Amino acid sequence: MGVSDKSYKMLIDGKWVESGSGATVEVLDPSKGRPIERVPSATIDDVRSAIDAAKSSFNSGVWSRAPPAERANALLRVASLLEADAQHFADLETLNAGKTIKQTTTYDLPYTVDNIRYIAGMARRLDGDAMAEYVPGGTSAIRREPIGVVGVITPWNYPLMMVVWRAFPALATGNSVVIKPASYTPLTTIRLGSLLLKSGIPDGVFNIVTGPGSLVGEELAKNNGVDMIAFTGSTEVGARLSELASPTTKKVSLELGGKAPFIVLADADLEASAQGAVVGGLVNNGQDCANSTRYYVEGSVLEKFQKALVEKLQSVKVGDPLDPSSDMGPLISAQHRERVLGFIKKGQEEGGSLVMGGRTPKIAGHEGGFFLEPTLIYTENHDSTIIKDEIFGPVFSVFKISSLDEAIQRGNDVIYGLGASVWTKDITKAMKAVRDLRFGTVWVNDHVPVPSEMPWAGYKQSGHGASLSRFSLDEYTYIKHVYFDLTGAVRKSWHYSVFGQKD
Ligand code: NAP
Repeated sequence: MGVSDKSYKMLIDGKWVESGSGATVEVLDPSKGRPIERVPSATIDDVRSAIDAAKSSFNSGVWSRAPPAERANALLRVASLLEADAQHFADLETLNAGKTIKQTTTYDLPYTVDNIRYIAGMARRLDGDAMAEYVPGGTSAIRREPIGVVGVITPWNYPLMMVVWRAFPALATGNSVVIKPASYTPLTTIRLGSLLLKSGIPDGVFNIVTGPGSLVGEELAKNNGVDMIAFTGSTEVGARLSELASPTTKKVSLELGGKAPFIVLADADLEASAQGAVVGGLVNNGQDCANSTRYYVEGSVLEKFQKALVEKLQSVKVGDPLDPSSDMGPLISAQHRERVLGFIKKGQEEGGSLVMGGRTPKIAGHEGGFFLEPTLIYTENHDSTIIKDEIFGPVFSVFKISSLDEAIQRGNDVIYGLGASVWTKDITKAMKAVRDLRFGTVWVNDHVPVPSEMPWAGYKQSGHGASLSRFSLDEYTYIKHVYFDLTGAVRKSWHYSVFGQKD
C-alpha cells in the first residue's frame, strides 16, 4: 500500500480512505497562493472510525504489549525510510508550508530523523524508582503503561516535526494514535503515514484524519474513546480543547504559543547578538513558537545594536522558498499575513516607530505569494500589543532597558513562557537571568537550538508537558505501583490499625 503524490487520503486502520461524504479541502502553495492538492474533509463518522481502529489495535495488545525493542526497531525503520526519502519530504514541506528549502533540507529533515532515533532509543529505557522494600515485608515496583488512544493535533508551522514530537513518544510507549494535521499543511503527515505502514507498524496504531479543527479536533477532544489529547498550537485553541476534554477528564498535554524575549546587555558581543537576533527572529519565516520577538537592549548599546541588526535584516533575501539562496519564504496564508500587518499597524498606533520593513514584496513568478519584509519597530510602550501578544511573523520589537533586573521583569511580563535568551559575557548576570526568567528554555549567547536529548516545554500559558528528551515519554504513560507481599502472613504487622489490636 502506498500513497502517490497525486492521491492524498486519510489513513484509517491501515487503509487509505476518502471522506465518507466525498468532501475535500484545498491545500495551497503559500509562495504562489495557488492550490496544489486536495485532501479529504472528514465526517464525524470518519473520525469515530479512526478512534475505533485505534482503540481496537490498542486493546489487541499487538503494539501496546509488544516488547519495547520491537517498537523501537519499528520506529528506527521509519527513521531510516524518512532519511532515505528526505529530499522528497523537504521539497514537499517547502512547497506546502513555504519554509525555505535551505531550512527543510539542512535542519527540519535531519533533525526530525534524529528526533525519531532518540525517541526510539528511549522506548527501551523508561524511568522509574528502583524496585525495593519501602515497607518492611513488601516489595514495591513501578510499571509504566501506555495511556491508550492519543489524539494528536498539530500546527502548520512544523507539520512533519510536530507529528514526530507528539505522536512518536506516544507510539514508543505503546499507545495508538489518531493524528489531525493542520488544514493548511497535511501533505508531509500523510506521506509519513506511508512510511509507518512500510515499517510494519500494525494497522490501526497510526491513523490520520484530515479536516477542520472545529470538527475533527473537537471530536477527538470530546470522544470518550480518546484517552489523551496531545496538542501543539495556539494558546487560544489549547484552552478550548481543555474545556472540551474536561467532561471525560482525559489528559490534555499542551504546547502552546510563545513570545520570546532577547536580552542584550551592554557588555554583549554586539555583532554576535545582532546576528543571533536575525536568526532567532526569522527562523521558519518568523513563524516559530521560539522566535525572538522582543529585544530588550541596554540604553548605552541600543543605537549600535539596532544599526547592526537593521544592516543584517536589509541583506535578508526574501524569495521563492524553493530557491536555495532564499533566506525567507512567505507567511502561511493571506489571512495570517493580514493579521501580522494588523500588528504592525497597531504597534505604530500605540506609539512605536517603524524603523524598517512593513511592506509586502512582489516576487517574480510568485506574485500571489504571502510575502512580508522583515519589520522592525522601536517602541517605548511596554503595554503595546506588539510586546504582549504573539504575532507569529517577522516582526522585531526593540525596547530600551536600563538594567538586567528591568529586562528580567519586562521579559517575564507576558502570559507566555516558552523560550528566552540573554546575551552577555558576564557569567554572574547570565546565571541570574537563567534563574529568574520564567521560561522553559533559556539560551545564553544563542537562540533556537534544542537538541533531541533536552526538553522543549512551556511555563505559564505556553502550556505544560514536554516534547523531546526522556521527559516526553513520561507524558504518554500511566504510572502503576505494584506491591508484592513477602511475608505470606494472614495477619500483616500493620493490620491492627484497622482491625484488632497490636500484638
Ligand atoms: P492553531 O490555530 O491553534 O491550530 C493548531 C491545530 O489545532 C490545527 O490542526 C487546527 O486545525 C486545530 N484546531 C483549530 N481549532 C480547533 C478547535 N476548535 N478544536 C480542535 N482543534 C482545533 O495553531 P496554528 O495557527 O496551526 O499554529 C500556530 C501556533 O502554534 C502558534 O501559537 C505557535 O506558537 C504554536 N506552536 C507551539 C509550539 C510549541 O512547541 N509550544 C510549536 C509549534 C507551534 P485547522 O488547521 O483545521 O484549523
